[in-house]
Amino acid sequence: MRLLSGGMHAGNSCFVALVLAVGLWTPSASAAECPIRMRADLQPRDLPFDAGSSECLLAVSLEPDFSKLRAAAGIEAGSLDFQVDYDGGEVNAYYTQGFIRVTRAYLRADLKREARLATLAHEIGHAVQERDGLLSWMNEPINLYFKKRHGGLYKDRSYESSEEYKEYQLRSRKREAHADAIGQELLARAGYAPDTFTLGRSSRFGCQSVDEIDEHDPTHPADAQRYVNAAMTASAVSSAKAASAAQSIAGYLGGTRPSADAFTPGTSIRDYDDLGRLKPGRLAASKLSVPPPPPDAGVVRRTVQQAAASVVARWISEPFQAAVDGLAASERRSIARKVLASCGPLRSTEPVDFSVFGWIKRLSEDAALRAVGARKTQDIKSASLAIPG
Ligand SMILES: [Zn+2]
Repeated sequence: MRLLSGGMHAGNSCFVALVLAVGLWTPSASAAECPIRMRADLQPRDLPFDAGSSECLLAVSLEPDFSKLRAAAGIEAGSLDFQVDYDGGEVNAYYTQGFIRVTRAYLRADLKREARLATLAHEIGHAVQERDGLLSWMNEPINLYFKKRHGGLYKDRSYESSEEYKEYQLRSRKREAHADAIGQELLARAGYAPDTFTLGRSSRFGCQSVDEIDEHDPTHPADAQRYVNAAMTASAVSSAKAASAAQSIAGYLGGTRPSADAFTPGTSIRDYDDLGRLKPGRLAASKLSVPPPPPDAGVVRRTVQQAAASVVARWISEPFQAAVDGLAASERRSIARKVLASCGPLRSTEPVDFSVFGWIKRLSEDAALRAVGARKTQDIKSASLAIPG
């Protein structure tokens, strides 16, 4: 900009153009390069990125967080890179195979640390989803559409009014909601405070009223809903108190908690409806499952454990899940209202009671037990009697 002022008369316009061109391609020799790469779409190489710029300094400060979260997801350093996107004035971050990028506008935006951590964790959640086949699953309807129309040879915008596109959009909303829960879990695994994700979402998306809960965009759940989901899954994925509550419910119903070794997300894409709203039943019921027998188990133990697993699934987990999902649907707005009302002071209060297990305990334990309790004892007994040997 300095070069332009005073140089805009015909006599030296070529000189100005030349200096501008040189200036674009070679930053001043003394400027050190930022250790975080800056890339732009359609540019095959890194762009100049001044190490002293505020964007670089912030990107560098986020890199250790990115690395911790990547490691918590079980992704190797060489296979997922953290980069800055040169393009666009939009405050945005995204995942594409092999890297996560945050825009320069994102780095310049006034965001709390928790909000940035939630962003990184959510994007790494997308990398986990791609590993688990959920990116292909989301794109499947659109790919099928082009296969039918053009034999998959090219893509045009005709898909935008198709049924396949609607299906793609609802899959996208589920996937975005699920990436939030994975991110939340990764933050907990990486040792951040259990409420980091929830605080990040509340500071980024604000504490909306319950009236905004239906305002989803085509590919993402409503911001208010994302906050509600996060508050409800917070302790299910991270809090010791909720884990022990889950354990006691599981113990009461006769199941045991599965052990967790490698990282597999605690939530599933099936935990979300078409608008990206959490259906907590499976999450709750999964805590009731019976672990598979160890590899060296004898035939009797294997048979007993498999029989127990199928009994728990058929007579305990599935009805329990249905009961919880039914209650969640009927209570959805009142739960959301309570969660959103608590949006501000989360750090100073114990948010556990808005979690899946907190409110299941309050609202649905009786109903769920009534749904399964009468059949439980009798069927476990008869299944045990049927085990040979
Ligand atoms: Zn996303």
